[in-house]
Order: sequence, then C-alpha cells, then structure tokens
Amino acid sequence: MNNKEIQKQKNNQFNGNRYSKQNNYNNCKVVNAYNFVSLGDPKNIKRGKVTTGEFSGKLICTLKNLTPIFTSGDSKIISSKDKNGKSINHNCEYFLCDNNNYIIAGSSLKGAIRNVIEVVTTSCIKNVVEKGVPLEFSPCSKEDELCFACRLFGSTGDTKNTSSTTALRGRVYFSDATIDKKKADIVANLVTIKPLYTPSPKCKKLYYLKNNIRGRKFYWHHANKIGKDLTTYENTIEDKNFTSSNSSIQFLKPLNTFNFEVHFDKLTEEELGVLIYSLQLEDGLAHKFGKAKSFGLGSCQIKIEKLYLETKDKYKSFTKCYEDTPVDKFLNSCIEKYITDDRKEIKELKAILNTKNSIDFSKKFFPIIGDKFNSLPQILDY
Ligand SMILES: [Zn+2]
Repeated sequence: MNNKEIQKQKNNQFNGNRYSKQNNYNNCKVVNAYNFVSLGDPKNIKRGKVTTGEFSGKLICTLKNLTPIFTSGDSKIISSKDKNGKSINHNCEYFLCDNNNYIIAGSSLKGAIRNVIEVVTTSCIKNVVEKGVPLEFSPCSKEDELCFACRLFGSTGDTKNTSSTTALRGRVYFSDATIDKKKADIVANLVTIKPLYTPSPKCKKLYYLKNNIRGRKFYWHHANKIGKDLTTYENTIEDKNFTSSNSSIQFLKPLNTFNFEVHFDKLTEEELGVLIYSLQLEDGLAHKFGKAKSFGLGSCQIKIEKLYLETKDKYKSFTKCYEDTPVDKFLNSCIEKYITDDRKEIKELKAILNTKNSIDFSKKFFPIIGDKFNSLPQILDY
C-alpha cells in the first residue's frame, strides 16, 4: 500500500477527511440570534401613486405562540443588596395587559408583517439612518413615488430630510392581539432570565458588510425549543443570580391562542393577496413577536379564520355588510407573482422563518465581538 492509499484508508476510518474545507467551515460558523434577508433586485422596486382598489373589509385572525412569549407591560424596580453590601436595582417586567386580557400590541404585529411584506414586494428600507443603504432602497419621500409597503402602510416621509412634509396614512389597521386572562396559560412566578443585550453601537457593525447594509433583520427560530415542555425551556434562559443587569419577566407558556383583526380599506386584489400571504405565511414557517427573541421566545403562527369583504351596497344600509370570502384566490395570485424560486431574498426569508433549522443556539453565540463582525455567514450558508 503506498502513502496515498494509507492516507485514504485513514480518512475512511474517520468517515472522510475531517479537515476538509467544508467540515472546517461548518465547525467555525458564527451563530447569531438574527440575520439579514437580502434587499433584492433594485429593478423590482415598483414605486408609484396609491391605486384605489375595490376591496375593503377585515381579516379575522388567530395567533398561536409555539414558544413562550413575552410582551412588556408594567415594570417595577426591586432594590436590595448583594452579599457584599452592594446595591442591586432589579427590574421586574409584567406581560402587557388590560383589566381582562393579555395583549400583543397591534403596532408590534404591524411592524413584523410589514417587514415580511417589504421583502416579498422589494420595498424601501425604513428606520435606517446610517450610510450604507443603496440609493434605490432609501425611504420613500414623495407621495407619487411610493413603494408597495408605503402604499399599503403609509409613509412618514423622509426622516432624514426635515423639510419633507410627505406623510401618508396607511390603508391597513391592526388591532391588538388579545387573550382572556381567564383562558391564558401564564407562568405563575416571574422568571429571572440572563441579561438581554440591547444593541450597542458596536453591534451595528454587524448590519454592514464592507459598508453595504446586509439587508432586512429577522430572528431565527430556536427550532430545538419548539414543542418542548416549559422546564426544558426555562433551563436554557434562567439566571440563578438576581442582579441589576438582568431582569425577571412574566411570560405566557406555549400554545396560547390570541385573537386579532386586520382592517383594510380600498386595496387592490394584489395588495390583499400580499397581505394575506404575509400574515399566514406557508406550512412550516412562523413569525416572531414580542421581546427576548434572541432567547427563542415569541415564535408564532397566524391563521386567517375569516375574510370578510364589504359588500358594494353597504351605503344603502346604516350598518356595514360583509361577505364571507375564501382567501385562496388572493393568496394564489400573490404566490404566483412574488414567491418565485429565482429570488434569493425569498429563499432567505423562507429559511429564516422556517421553524426547523440546524442551528445550535445552546452554544455561546451573543454578542459577536471583535473582528468577527465580517464573518457572519449569510442565511443560506447555514
Ligand atoms: Zn417606501
């Protein structure tokens, strides 16, 4: 047996060459709680005026959380001293609620759905004031040159340009998602969790690669925590220490069902289709709502229970008349036009919203420091 053959045999014993480029790369892959979906082809940004469509009505939706969920309501500071006599101001945060319900704010739902719609329709990118955004994707500032998302949700005009007065109301309104306190399955005691890292200016570096913005931010689902019992889950996020830098939170257990409505006014068939797709997504995909997403909280699925369209003769009667309508026609036209295999950003969106992935979040993953900023792989590299 010559040297080459001996080497080959050794490799076979180790199930292939352990030090191949591929394996080495996999072992070193940087894991981060979130990643970025590419902005897409600038040629696909279709800016224009709002077109008045024929569809007004409401979507009656349910939202089921697959992992525990936490939205921040009242909080209080508990002051005490540690064993060395040093003062501790520990933050306790309660689930957002009113007298009768636990609540996920409509603004929070709207923000997440808009983010999906921006990817699907290659819309402008909002809330980014730093340099790095390609000119084609800069926030819409003229009423007759609005991207798809701004036509649907409205635009506050160009935040960078204070002389801009363009502000347009949206045509889509989200109610809060609520669950009756009596029906809700909430953890009895507040759970002290590891510190939630607020994005430092240094972390912003992660948003850019060679001065170009990486894309639109989405959080990965912690696939290994979906469908697990609460104790398994608590073990991964609980902090035994009671300090000033961590907090205790009250969260809802998995598999609670919230109710909410989305009202819409004069949408085109295409706009309604995109709205329906972005709410309901596809089998195996889910949204993320609430806080502590980096710990895997807030994975949620939305189901459209009913689509009610206002009937044409509504002005003849004093009360609005609605017609129960199947969503399929609207949904299929959206999928046909937008959810195509040739769009990298759609593949990335489906990958990061997938409730199954092979990323191991049990390893120390956050925050990324030092020169690792440039080494964050793209979504499809995982
Ligand atoms: Zn826009």
